[in-house]
Formats: sequence, structure tokens, C-alpha cells
Amino acid sequence: MMSLICCRRLIKGKIISDDCIKCKTCVRNCPADAINIESKSFDLDKCIGCWACINRCPKHAIKSTSREMNDIMINFSSAFESRLEPEIFM
Ligand code: SF4
Ligand code: SF4
Repeated sequence: MMSLICCRRLIKGKIISDDCIKCKTCVRNCPADAINIESKSFDLDKCIGCWACINRCPKHAIKSTSREMNDIMINFSSAFESRLEPEIFM
């Protein structure tokens, strides 16, 4: 049970930085309606961990709360940057 909770936070835990310009691109592209941009919060019960919000933010204002996950995603993004699909599903 403990490892499931850690895994959930690892994949779904995100923060929105002060770079956010409230364009709501992330909200429009979230398939789970899990983002409240006014409170800069995520509903982790709704979030499916698709990272569309992270990948589509024009200001790169959304980051994982896990440094390891951010490093993994940077490596994934550079390895697959020629692909058309912006989301990486886990
Ligand atoms: S896409 Fe980025 S800049 Fe736009 S509202 Fe979402 S977090 Fe803010
Ligand atoms: S990871 Fe996907 S489901 Fe979760 S908040 Fe971002 S866009 Fe929505």
C-alpha cells in the first residue's frame, strides 16, 4: 500500500510555478478535468498521469514534484522530440 501511494505521488504530483500566465492551455488539454488554475492545484483522484499539462504549457510552468521524474521526462522529451504525439502515457 505504501509503495502504491509513493508511486501515485511520483507520477501525479505536480506544482504550478509563478511563471504561469493563466492561459488555461493545461486546463483545456487535461482529459480528466483535474486542474484548478485559480488555486494552482490538481485533483489527484481525477488525474490519470498523462502529463499533457506539463508538455503543453507554453511557459513550462508545470513541473513534477519529483526531481527524478523531471529528469526522466527531460530525457524522454529529447529522445522522442521528433514524434508528433506530445503526451507520454504511463
Ligand atoms: S498552460 Fe501553463 S501558463 Fe497556461 S494556465 Fe496552465 S500552467 Fe499556466
Ligand atoms: S497529468 Fe494529465 S490528467 Fe493529470 S492534470 Fe495533467 S493533463 Fe490532467
